[in-house]
Amino acid sequence: MKRIPEPFRIKMVEPIHMTTRSYREKALEDAGFNPFLLKSDDVFIDLLSDSGTGAMSDNQWAGLMRGDEAYAGGRNYYRLAETIEELFGYKYTTPTHQGRGAEQILFPCLAERTESKTPVFISNYHFDTTAAHVELCGGKPVNLPVSEALDTTTPYPWKGNIDIAEMQRTIEEHGSKNIAALILTVTNNSAGGQPVSMANIREASQYARDRNIPVVLDAARFCENAWFIREREEGYSNKSIREIIQEMFSYGDMFTMSAKKDALVNIGGLCCIKEDESIYRSVCERCVPMEGFVTYGGLAGRDMEALTLGLHEAMDDDYLNYRIGQVAYLGERLRESGIPIQYPTGGHAVFIDAAKMLPHIEPRCFPGHALANEIYLEGGIRGVEIGSLMLGRDPDTGEQKASPFEMLRLTIPRRTYTNDHMDFVAETLIELNDRAETIKGVTFTYEPHVLRHFTARFKAVA
Ligand SMILES: *Cc1c(COP(=O)(O)O)cnc(C)c1O
Repeated sequence: MKRIPEPFRIKMVEPIHMTTRSYREKALEDAGFNPFLLKSDDVFIDLLSDSGTGAMSDNQWAGLMRGDEAYAGGRNYYRLAETIEELFGYKYTTPTHQGRGAEQILFPCLAERTESKTPVFISNYHFDTTAAHVELCGGKPVNLPVSEALDTTTPYPWKGNIDIAEMQRTIEEHGSKNIAALILTVTNNSAGGQPVSMANIREASQYARDRNIPVVLDAARFCENAWFIREREEGYSNKSIREIIQEMFSYGDMFTMSAKKDALVNIGGLCCIKEDESIYRSVCERCVPMEGFVTYGGLAGRDMEALTLGLHEAMDDDYLNYRIGQVAYLGERLRESGIPIQYPTGGHAVFIDAAKMLPHIEPRCFPGHALANEIYLEGGIRGVEIGSLMLGRDPDTGEQKASPFEMLRLTIPRRTYTNDHMDFVAETLIELNDRAETIKGVTFTYEPHVLRHFTARFKAVA
């Protein structure tokens, strides 16, 4: 596969260090066999997350100097809000400290409007913090991915889609007045960074709107999703990324966005409402005590400036071709060596099918997490489990929820690592695959109640 060269020159470098195997054994043991608890200085290539880990451009760094650090009504806020209106067509912008800040100020407003005791939120897949915020406001998150997403090996262009028939059935079952929102996550992070087609967004949105169910876009990776629509969907190959984005957002009534992903900043989020002033008012009421005054929402003026610039840079064709090309390149190298991955690869990460690679480890012993520990020990690389461990327990019954996937996610930070780093990652995994049967499952020595995967501790199962 032909590599797409990085469309940038490197102006500044941050040294990273390889450690010895015995050093890493000690570090991982101290971290309770949970890579989340490692010091990043002890990691060589950090593929834990693409969140806030990207490199800003020279233009964004220059923008930091234009921060107007006013408590209220700063100019960077107005520039940001104007940019949102211009790019997406949404009238009301509330900045937040990051994506979950937007979730915490929006979801209770949506839950309240249903007058239901357990308002239902339906989605192609709730991201982990998204599901947590639904539960924190008394709601029930229901994930309705298409069945194609569950079959990692069979190619399907739209593994991020919501299952429309299941969505209709779920809405009928609960009654539309008990549905707080339809949340469309673009791209679908938990299904493997997989894209959602325009046709799917349109159809799901239409169905929900006809029943007065608000449509929320969880838009962390809006540009990557638009790139896939242009590549794969009929009728879009001649459209610009910007036009595709405008159409995508026309099907939403509001969006939450972690700006730490496609928007190319290290911190920041957005909660934007297209035109519903009453929802905007309730969002503002929560924003002030939780995030900060409504024109900064937990961000410095300079952060908002970098975000405004990042929104534009993220839509650049050369950048997106390279970005998604780099992820595909790593995926191809693994696939040609027989390592099972979610295929085709998505926009921000390669997902290794740990259930297939480590069939001897049962889901309750977390094969994806076991593989995350091994890849750290072998190559100083940090990835993260996406599977039973992340999904957690049913809050009512305390039972482990049944996860459709057991994966290891290798998340590629934006504009940060070169293709040589990708080669090193591929070679490390190929070595692990050759001795896959020696890898052992894990079990808890400490299990937190909420979002347990972040701080849990483990030991190997004999
Ligand atoms: C990252 C992410 C969030 C949460 O955003 P944070 O900035 O991490 O708080 C929500 N939804 C999706 C799809 C995400 O990828």
